[in-house]
Amino acid sequence: LFQELAPAPDPPVYATTVAYNKDPSPDKLHLGIGVYRTEEGNCHTLNVVKQVERMLANDLSADKEYLPITGMPEFNKLSAELIFGCGSPAIKESRVATVQCVSGCGSLRLGAELLAKLYNQHVVYLPEPTYGNHPNLLSAAGLTLKTYRYYDPKTHGLDFQGLMEDLGSALTGAIVLFHASGHNPTGVDPTCEQWEQIRRSVRLRGLLPFFDCAYQGLVSGNLDADAQSIRMFVCDGGECLVAQSYSKNLGLYGERIGSLSIVCKTADVAKRVESQLRLIIRPFYSNPPIHGAAIVTAILKDRGLYKEWTAELKAMSDRLVGVRRQLFDALCSRGTLGDWSHITKQVGMSTFTGLNEDQIDFLTKEHHIYMSYDGRINIGGLSSKAVPYLADAIHDAVNR
Ligand code: PMP
Repeated sequence: LFQELAPAPDPPVYATTVAYNKDPSPDKLHLGIGVYRTEEGNCHTLNVVKQVERMLANDLSADKEYLPITGMPEFNKLSAELIFGCGSPAIKESRVATVQCVSGCGSLRLGAELLAKLYNQHVVYLPEPTYGNHPNLLSAAGLTLKTYRYYDPKTHGLDFQGLMEDLGSALTGAIVLFHASGHNPTGVDPTCEQWEQIRRSVRLRGLLPFFDCAYQGLVSGNLDADAQSIRMFVCDGGECLVAQSYSKNLGLYGERIGSLSIVCKTADVAKRVESQLRLIIRPFYSNPPIHGAAIVTAILKDRGLYKEWTAELKAMSDRLVGVRRQLFDALCSRGTLGDWSHITKQVGMSTFTGLNEDQIDFLTKEHHIYMSYDGRINIGGLSSKAVPYLADAIHDAVNR
């Protein structure tokens, strides 16, 4: 069996991790994979999560019974409120179908499966560039991929004109994927005014927005502000899909916990959509795991724990802003060629440095710095004490 089978290549981000793990240098830095780390370089477990883990461990009445196919009902209700806001008209009118999913990727894939099976338009437009797994997740479900212009390498900012032109000429009814906030890999988000223009264009052309919300709270430090783009599209009474992840904002990477919400026109449609999601989930994985949902639910339903979470999130996002500033200052003080102000203008966990492949190769070979070839670095994986080392290396690569 499989005698002639060729080995599959590692996905790029894993290949970088493999190379990093093999490197014996004590100075090595891994800025590829999108994980928020402590100053010591460890994956950051939030205090509020540790507290809830202790509570759950002591709760002898809790069992491990199967969850319903669509997950823990309380988790779904609270997750929808977190994204759309408690007073959201769509929630009040029961127009939202929310189901627990296997984190952000599982939510994206489930949404794509639903659209491929039941929506009449199979073309999805992705921002150029986008999160590396988006094309895989959406095309594996059977959707056809196209792109819209997003990042302008000349300004290191948004190509707003290109974006609007591409939305303006998109196929009627096509699906458009948006990053709700903290765009990965560029760290470039539209302003509120730009979102409003995007919203108008989307509605005018009858496009279907599909939001990926993987960094809520980590961008501005405020959970409501980071969901503002989505809420603008819900306030107008129109439809949209939202894939939500708790990997980054609760540090629950390995728990694989998130949700998919479909905002519908009526409560009756939402009910039918939910029933169809059950049909898709059942032959996939039958029902989702319980532990991550229990952690999230405990935090979202308790005022005290929720407050602690928001305080921790604010501290995390402040650290990201601080590290950006330190890197920018360090490059300026070294007189590194070029304008690096985009490092502080971009937001969230990712920064698109503008370094080219040759410079990235140099950083890896000469300085043991591992990152993806598009020039993105994970600011969340950069400690303050590593900033001078990174700045020296970038200076060396750029000023050669
Ligand atoms: N969307 C984006 C934009 C991401 O950056 C990521 C993770 N890096 C995901 C989705 C998937 O996250 P998860 O681990 O929750 O599946």
